[in-house]
Amino acid sequence: MEIKVQRHTDLDSLLKAAASIEGRIFYLAGGTDLMVQAHAGVLPPATWLEISDVPQLHGISVEGSELRIGAGVTHHEIMRSQLVQTWAPALAQASANVGGPQIRSRGTIGGNLANASPVADTVPALYSLGAQLHLISQRGERTVAVEEFALAPRRNVLEPGEIIYSINFPCRPGIKGVWNSMAQRESLAISKVNIGVSYVLDPELEEGVGFNYLQVAFGAVGPTVLRARQVEEYLRAEPLSAQRLERACQLAQSEVSPISDVRSQADYRRAMAGVLLYDALSPLL
Ligand SMILES: Cc1cc2nc3c(=O)[nH]c(=O)nc-3n(C[C@H](O)[C@H](O)[C@H](O)COP(=O)(O)OP(=O)(O)OC[C@H]3O[C@@H](n4cnc5c(N)ncnc54)[C@H](O)[C@@H]3O)c2cc1C
Repeated sequence: MEIKVQRHTDLDSLLKAAASIEGRIFYLAGGTDLMVQAHAGVLPPATWLEISDVPQLHGISVEGSELRIGAGVTHHEIMRSQLVQTWAPALAQASANVGGPQIRSRGTIGGNLANASPVADTVPALYSLGAQLHLISQRGERTVAVEEFALAPRRNVLEPGEIIYSINFPCRPGIKGVWNSMAQRESLAISKVNIGVSYVLDPELEEGVGFNYLQVAFGAVGPTVLRARQVEEYLRAEPLSAQRLERACQLAQSEVSPISDVRSQADYRRAMAGVLLYDALSPLL
């Protein structure tokens, strides 16, 4: 297979190249997905634009009331970031569980998203945080909610010449989060089901636990990551109790629509969606 690689160290030159190249383009960030696909012979002939040295795609910062993470930030940087641990704990946990240290030090959050895999570990965390993706091309910029980004396995809304520039979400005071997965092993295994939960507790509730903010998402239970809206509405409606959490877990099992494949059976995935939700929220009881 013929691969031409161009290295870019500046966003303008990258976007110009992406707009002018005829034929397929792939962006080479960490290469942890792209190289595997190239070795498997499943990629068409293409020009690869190396983006890991484009400074505008790096950095984690608070801008106004939002946390901004450059698309080229690695999982290692995310899991170590104090800002992410404070404002996006579910994402810090997700990134800490991607692959092993070598993969985390190369693989990026932009690559994890762009792949549009329903199993991608950071994506349920990003759904739970209500992340917005800033996309950029020579034609201009646009913002897409993370939930609108993946259309199907390996298909996303990126247009030719467009790149994920950054991932932004509001800094919500008091935010807590849980990310978890069920896999063949505790680490270095692709998730059979994963979950991202982010919440802010209601400090005014005198008795029990209530939520001022709660978003729940599951991965590997459908063609794209799934936001569990019925579960959220049910849990937000009244203070949490053991009984209500059990009912919410049943709702989660009916809201997901997993398939059976080489990694797991649909019934097991469905059952585990409930277990992961229970494990995420039962410490609050
Ligand atoms: C051994 C191993 C273990 C792994 N374990 C996990 C795991 O536990 N959990 C998990 O979720 N994933 C895992 N992965 C998959 C992979 O590491 C992640 O998906 C990673 O985040 C991909 O990022 P990357 O920078 O390496 O992407 P690349 O391989 O460089 O690119 C992947 C795709 O994204 C596109 N792309 C990259 N950056 C951008 C951008 N900014 N804008 C637009 N398109 C872009 C590329 O064109 C390409 O199509 C594993 C992979 C390996 C090889």
